[in-house]
Amino acid sequence: MEKKSELYAGKAKSVYNTDEADKLILQFRDDTSAFDGEKIAQLARKGMVNNKFNAFIMQRLEEAGVPTHFEHLLSDTESVVKKLEMLPVECVVRNIAAGSMVRRLGVKEGIDLNPPTFEFFLKDDALHDPMINEYHIQTFGWATETEIEEMKVLTFRVNDVLKQLFLGAGLLLVDYKLEYGRFNGRIILGDEFTPDGCRLWDAHTRDKLDKDRFRQGIGGVVEAYEEVARRLGIALD
Ligand code: ADP
Ligand code: UDP
Repeated sequence: MEKKSELYAGKAKSVYNTDEADKLILQFRDDTSAFDGEKIAQLARKGMVNNKFNAFIMQRLEEAGVPTHFEHLLSDTESVVKKLEMLPVECVVRNIAAGSMVRRLGVKEGIDLNPPTFEFFLKDDALHDPMINEYHIQTFGWATETEIEEMKVLTFRVNDVLKQLFLGAGLLLVDYKLEYGRFNGRIILGDEFTPDGCRLWDAHTRDKLDKDRFRQGIGGVVEAYEEVARRLGIALD
């Protein structure tokens, strides 16, 4: 496969066109950002770890009946994916209260959420990704009613699959963000599933093993991602 022009350079990944019109190359970089791009750093090995982590998770999801954009690994830091027409919304499911839910609602970090919650956010850094609801999405044409329903069903299916997968590795899946896109009239999971976009706590100590280590300046960020990968049996080298 031939890499063509850069389509988009995001905060953590670069997206390239290829010689196949319906395929893209996603390059996972070492760049790490938080607070809508206000805090930025380069973390050695993170691109490689996240690329392989994402490949592993996307394959588990595909096996469990969640359609994903993932095709195959191309190199240590690159994957081939289907080119989607991305919907500008982020889907967040939470099993345990943390992050913006705690700040917004004043609930205690760490409480179990039963049932798990579902939230939509608008993907717009300049507006700081505001929370939106299904009416906003339909009214402003960001997705149709059917697409909204499909995103909810798939995002909860991902929860069923991944909660168990991580628990088997001694980890709690606290929350996560997913992005979807259109492909041949279907809604497909795009973007990534890595510790950059979810929260994972050690099931016994509740140590944070995700991007909160970067947000909160705890350190050992990539080491924590590698520990999660090791527990899941993901080969990194
Ligand atoms: P951000 O845009 O938030 O800075 P990234 O650095 O991760 O995020 O950039 C990756 C970009 O690629 C995101 O905007 C994401 O929506 C987009 N993207 C992810 N998967 C696909 C895909 N399969 N097809 C088209 N665009 C995609
Ligand atoms: N998240 C993300 N990208 C975003 C916003 C959130 O990947 O632009 C993830 C985040 O890592 C967490 C979940 O979505 O796993 C919920 O994030 P939250 O709303 O708590 O926001 P935060 O506290 O991270 O700002």
